[in-house]
Amino acid sequence: MTEDTVKPRGLWGRWRGMMLWKQIFIALALGAALGIALNQTGHADIALAIKPIGTMFVNAIKMLIVPLIFVSLVVGMMSMQDLGKMGRVGLKTVVLYLFTTAIAITIGLALGILLQPGAGIDMSAAASAVEAEAAPSVVQIIVDLIPTNPIAAAVDGNVLQIIVFAILFGIAINLAGEKAAPVRDFFESLSEVIYKLTAIVIAFAPYGVFALMVWVAGSYGIDMLLPLGKVIFAVYLGCVIHALLVYGGMVRLLARLNPLRFFQGVFEPAMVAFTSTSSSGTLAVSMTAAEKNLGVPRGISSFVLPLGATINMDGTALYQGVCALFVAQAFGIDLSGTDYLTIILTATLASIGTAGVPGAGVIMLSLVLASVGLPLEGVAVIAGIDRILDMARTALNVTGDCAVAVVVAKSEGELDQQAYDTPHVMDSPTLKALRQD
Ligand code: ASP
Repeated sequence: MTEDTVKPRGLWGRWRGMMLWKQIFIALALGAALGIALNQTGHADIALAIKPIGTMFVNAIKMLIVPLIFVSLVVGMMSMQDLGKMGRVGLKTVVLYLFTTAIAITIGLALGILLQPGAGIDMSAAASAVEAEAAPSVVQIIVDLIPTNPIAAAVDGNVLQIIVFAILFGIAINLAGEKAAPVRDFFESLSEVIYKLTAIVIAFAPYGVFALMVWVAGSYGIDMLLPLGKVIFAVYLGCVIHALLVYGGMVRLLARLNPLRFFQGVFEPAMVAFTSTSSSGTLAVSMTAAEKNLGVPRGISSFVLPLGATINMDGTALYQGVCALFVAQAFGIDLSGTDYLTIILTATLASIGTAGVPGAGVIMLSLVLASVGLPLEGVAVIAGIDRILDMARTALNVTGDCAVAVVVAKSEGELDQQAYDTPHVMDSPTLKALRQD
């Protein structure tokens, strides 16, 4: 008798039969509870000892970034014979990305004004050796899109350059027509292998999420978070508001779909983003969820999601709005209307330039502060709790990418409505699904 025919029994059997999103949710809650308990009982070292399991998971999802983006984008391009359609999808994606980012930062600023996170904080204890990031010039950003060496771009994990090379490579395959048939077949087949590899790694998500949660909760504890509780509250509240209003609204009004289904379908990547704090690292999970849970075809998700993981950072922009006001309030500096506009513009650009890796946002924060002459010492204070803020903003970043993917797919008439309406095909028992194909 094979395992598949055995009815799952006992705790382990029930766990293995559980849907992935439930496993991840339980892992998150257990990890947080255990981490806080370890911290309160003075055993933060145990929490640290569990961290390597989480690091292994994060390494594994990062391992997928380069092959997954390249191969799925080439295959996506192969399915998009029509250059006009490519241009349309690209334009819609970029416009939605910029628009949602500008709203995110505005929500961040509004919450900063309403909740006054910096009131009553004494900044004088902050270290002062922080230097502002230089703003990248727009021309330089565009010039750097073209890789001088695609292998080097892959080695460095330069996502934008990999995207550009993969798009050109895919177009070239289409243009070469019949002569490129073997290359086409090879990439079709390679993409199946890479998707399988992705499924193997994703099956370990609950364990990685658990370990990372134990580590974060264990090393921060509750006491350390209290002084900056208002900043944390403002960023988390902002992320929830933005997700519900902007993404929920977009899915409802632009795509005419049930937003509840969207939030269900995006849960797994959002939670992996929450614990790994890397949108690029989460790509493998978001691409799988977009396809399996949300019905976005690969041709669209393979372009929209890697691009979003690199340039669309609504959570990061929102956080920069809250933090800029936090610093202004803590130093007793009044901001003018022009300052607010400058912050909106700089934070939008900064969030585009922020890499989808842990902690990148706090480095770009210095750029935003410098643009309106706010003291950079504020960055040092925020850096102390940055991981906690990074979790929320990365989850929002990834949710935003998926929302845009759904809206673009729907507007192209390519969304698989049935997959969207019955989410969680990505369900576990993932290992069972792996065995079956
Ligand atoms: N960690 C974020 C991300 O990967 C970037 C940031 O630090 O804001 O999306």
